[in-house]
Amino acid sequence: MSMKLDAPAANAPPEAEDGVWLSCIDCDHTLAPFDDVVFTCPECGGLLEVRYADLPTFEDFEGTGVWRYDDALPVEMGVTIQEGNTPLYEVPELESETGVDHLHVKHEGMNPTGSFKDRGMTVGVQVASRLGVDRLACASTGNTSAALSAYGARSELETLVLLPAGKVAAGKVAQASLHGARILEVDGNFDTCLDIVQDLATSGHVYLLNSLNPFRLEGQKTIGLEILEQCQERTGEFPDRIVLPVGNAGNTSALYKAFRELVQSGALDEDEVPKLTGVQAEGAAPMVEAVEEGNDEINRWESVETRATAIRIGNPVNAPKALPGIRETGGTAVAVSDDQITDAQRSLAEEGVGVEPASAASVAGLRKLREQDVIGRDENVVCLTTGHLLKDPDEAAAAGGDPEPVPGDTEGVLNHLDG
Ligand SMILES: *Cc1c(COP(=O)(O)O)cnc(C)c1O
Ligand SMILES: [Zn+2]
Repeated sequence: MSMKLDAPAANAPPEAEDGVWLSCIDCDHTLAPFDDVVFTCPECGGLLEVRYADLPTFEDFEGTGVWRYDDALPVEMGVTIQEGNTPLYEVPELESETGVDHLHVKHEGMNPTGSFKDRGMTVGVQVASRLGVDRLACASTGNTSAALSAYGARSELETLVLLPAGKVAAGKVAQASLHGARILEVDGNFDTCLDIVQDLATSGHVYLLNSLNPFRLEGQKTIGLEILEQCQERTGEFPDRIVLPVGNAGNTSALYKAFRELVQSGALDEDEVPKLTGVQAEGAAPMVEAVEEGNDEINRWESVETRATAIRIGNPVNAPKALPGIRETGGTAVAVSDDQITDAQRSLAEEGVGVEPASAASVAGLRKLREQDVIGRDENVVCLTTGHLLKDPDEAAAAGGDPEPVPGDTEGVLNHLDG
């Protein structure tokens, strides 16, 4: 029940600390937020969520970036590299091609390490410091490890990252490497890496910073809050719809939570909540399958493939939080082909917006849903682009044009140009 958009705000249980506590989304078991290291419900194994006695309205926000929204977060600012406050771009060509009323691109690739993962890490690593853990870890398709390595380095905590061997884009491995994480290349896919790191976390060997960690999603809520404020300023209204790529469905869950809390505080009407619209690659689309079949749970896909490696995930751990978000906001989910992803990556690049393949899935999804008339002509749409072009230089070069060899003199160059 607690996942409904019109669920009333909860009263603080005795375990709450400064009005903050953890609650299981399945059995409503409550826990003190910072006493023990827990990732899932000790009673039923369900997903945990951070809850607050006091929820802010827009008037409470001041400053810039993720920490502008500290009234909606469980801790005060600690380790930060100035994450958030990313640009909201106009994309006139794509706007007229897709024929929606307004189209903006929220480019999360402009965060310090080049993806939205920084927003979750500034909060998650601060909680880890507060808990006094000594080793941080994550499984990653790349960007989580890049972000964790940077925040781990800055907070002087040992960092361990588990990556699927041969399936992580070059820029992301380079980041983890230079920031000083220990990198374990696992003979298996992302889902296998996550199984292992969850075992390590449960047995107390590491502190888990995957999006299963409820504190990380708190930081990622700020994407939704920023979109609402920026869109309001730009177009005079909140967006009707947000289209975003889905991997583990952490962002879908986090944006839904942000909107649910604004409804609870009275800052947003239920009918003002943007429709959350998830996009997956055809080769890794368990969420789309669940939405299309009307299931409350997803079926794990054992084998997944797509050039959008950031969303090459067969077992989205946050599905129990994200599926209600898609349903309750009137959104949907759609799968796109790798060719459609590449086309969208090129179209964004033509407007000066450089993104990695997974990010372009949002635009590919918008195109497909416009063709099917699921997204209306009169809609005010925001596409979320999650990571920077330079994250995956090989895929960017493959999607772009080839360099032309020329002689080392002006005449030779002119001949080549005229020829
Ligand atoms: C992590 C990531 C995703 C997937 O986000 P979820 O919150 O796991 O659904 C999508 N795109 C990029 C670039 C990412 O790094
Ligand atoms: Zn439970």
